[in-house]
Amino acid sequence: MKVVVTGGAGFIGSNLVRHLASRPSVVQVVALDDLSAGQAQNLDGIERTSLVVGSILDRSALDRTVRGADVVVHLAARGSVPRSLTDPLRTNLVNVDGTLAVLESVRANAPQAQVIFASSSSVYGANPIMPKHEDMTVMPMSPYAVSKLAGEQYLLAYARSFELRVLPFRLFNVYGPLQTAGHAYAAVVPAFIDAALHRRPLPIYGDGLQTRDFTFVGTVVEVLGRCITEGLTSAGPVNLAFGTRRSLMDVVVMLEELLGATVQRQHLPSRLSDVRDSNADHRRLCELLPGLEAVPMELGLAHTLAWMQMVYSSG
Ligand code: NAD
Repeated sequence: MKVVVTGGAGFIGSNLVRHLASRPSVVQVVALDDLSAGQAQNLDGIERTSLVVGSILDRSALDRTVRGADVVVHLAARGSVPRSLTDPLRTNLVNVDGTLAVLESVRANAPQAQVIFASSSSVYGANPIMPKHEDMTVMPMSPYAVSKLAGEQYLLAYARSFELRVLPFRLFNVYGPLQTAGHAYAAVVPAFIDAALHRRPLPIYGDGLQTRDFTFVGTVVEVLGRCITEGLTSAGPVNLAFGTRRSLMDVVVMLEELLGATVQRQHLPSRLSDVRDSNADHRRLCELLPGLEAVPMELGLAHTLAWMQMVYSSG
């Protein structure tokens, strides 16, 4: 089986590539990444894996990579809600035109391939109803959220029009090893751990009581791996989270318990387009993959902390 992972040198992508390369049914993994956010060394030493450095916006690089694929996991994207507010056109180009280019390439070069896509819980946006069910009204609050909605809907339209075998997931807040901190658009978990390890106050936007459905990356790649092995598709988007929401202050307390010390906090003004609460209805996911169990946050956070401590201690 040949699996192509766009964005394969990024956080989720490189965790997925490592997971897939350990599966006997996967013969070849090809990561396509322009390294705008990902890093080639994330893939160092992984067997049966190659990295094509190129953009999904380069149709010939895309076609060469996709040709003969049995599965395409499309993760390449320009992430971050705040960044999309600063430069919406670039977010649209990479996330919408780029996704359409991936679908066109699959249609032309690997029409039987299973196509898995990473959409986002941000599509629920301003809709206050909880938990977030896939059939509820979407109310995106940012260009990033709109771009993810467009991507998943393009997948579904290609399934209806061209019988492409698609599986669009809505990821919630994924965290874990290989997620980087130390830049303006860092996600909350690495940003908190980075600050704590450098003995800086933890940056908390607003009161910190906003909630997120945090998912450990090990659980995400387990889900994606099983969907690939079982060749699963879906006629609609599927939430990839487990209804286990925590506030940012909960995460601060968990981190203090793991570190065995208190940490300083710095409350900053709330961010534009930040969703207040997020919590997944995971019934559709459980129907798709019965018996699935998520890594609890205490354990996932401990793994992530240990990984960041190891990276910082090795310079
Ligand atoms: P990431 O930024 O670590 O990974 C994205 C990768 O895509 C990077 O390696 C980047 O270099 C690559 N990339 C960007 N533009 C590209 C282009 N034009 N051509 C080729 N490669 C390109 O982000 P991540 O957290 O691993 O997210 C992976 C996917 O999951 C993204 O589509 C993201 O929108 C989605 N998602 C992530 C989360 C999360 O919590 N991490 C939540 C919801 C959705």
